[in-house]
Amino acid sequence: MINTKKVPGTVMLKHEFIVPDHYKKFTCKGGECRNTCCSGWKVTISRQQYFVLHGLSCNKSLRDKMDRTFKPLVDPTPERYAEIVHNYEGNCPLLLDNGLCQLHGSCGEEVLPWICRYYPRGPRIDYAFEATVANSCERTLELLFETNNPIRFEIKELTFKMQVKDSKPKQEEKDFYKKVQQFCFGLVQDRSIPLHDRIRKVGNILKALDNHREQDLDKIDLTLDKIEPDFGQAYHVLLNVSEWFIENSPSLSEYCSTIKEMYDNHDNEAVYRKNLNHFESVIKDSEIKFEKMLINNMFFRQFPFFESTRNFTETYISLVGTYVFVRYIAINLMHDKNTVDDFIDIMSKTFRVITHTRFENNIIALLQAERATDTFILAKLLNI
Ligand code: SF4
Repeated sequence: MINTKKVPGTVMLKHEFIVPDHYKKFTCKGGECRNTCCSGWKVTISRQQYFVLHGLSCNKSLRDKMDRTFKPLVDPTPERYAEIVHNYEGNCPLLLDNGLCQLHGSCGEEVLPWICRYYPRGPRIDYAFEATVANSCERTLELLFETNNPIRFEIKELTFKMQVKDSKPKQEEKDFYKKVQQFCFGLVQDRSIPLHDRIRKVGNILKALDNHREQDLDKIDLTLDKIEPDFGQAYHVLLNVSEWFIENSPSLSEYCSTIKEMYDNHDNEAVYRKNLNHFESVIKDSEIKFEKMLINNMFFRQFPFFESTRNFTETYISLVGTYVFVRYIAINLMHDKNTVDDFIDIMSKTFRVITHTRFENNIIALLQAERATDTFILAKLLNI
């Protein structure tokens, strides 16, 4: 590791990283991108990066613009300390008309917040050296959907400038992380049974680990009780959950409002069946696409140690919540759309919230409010 002088507290890290097989094919689409990442979504930066920018020596006009661009959050954490405030067009104020970044042009790449510098790449170095590209970028989804092959992982030497934390997990914790992750990814990619049952098996593993972390994963009981589908109960929960996003998520509000209007005062099951039939006729092998998005997101979020879950039972609740919410958005929003590009646009925008906000935290709280967090109800949500 080489200490860098320009930005204190960071190192230039060159190391072998575990990456999914689509990682090496990633290149930004630039001007061809339908939904550029400099526009339309809330981006947060860490406290360390905020103060680097705050203390940066630059001309007055850039300084004024930066002060308006990076605003501390009301409820900051060290990792999410300030957000980029977009202009009236929904763009980052530092985005120039020629598509370049003013901060990058004036002060160089090394002062850019990491999200801007590396996006959609997400390097992780605490439990393992890992990196993937986020589902929130349309190019990532195009790469994921290029083949039906399960995601495989490989080793690639990469270099990132990043902040290295002083405290690191112990080796036993790192070994446990990798062991559970690999085992559960194997379950999610076992296509001999439906995806919703594979997720339930991951739930059996996570719940057992909450009781006893040292146990042999191969010996955990993976049998599943038969659960009858219950559309009424599942959609009652999902429609209520999505109400919260109408009020609180500028990125998902329109999507959730559109779906609400579709269902209000209609035969809910008939609307769902119609939308599902259309979705499945347009998006071939949709279960495989959901599986690949789920695995890529789990890897990005460092499953099973999601940042905002307190135990493995919560990790499972958030995993189920993510999967059912993504399907809910996809199946219903595609009702009048007919191409895979439409699907990619909807999913990439949805994952901007799922991957880069406290979605896991929120979905757990929302499912708790609906009394929908026990194993039986979660299975019902998965089963439609
Ligand atoms: S969303 Fe992805 S492809 Fe589009 S501009 Fe950003 S990094 Fe490039």
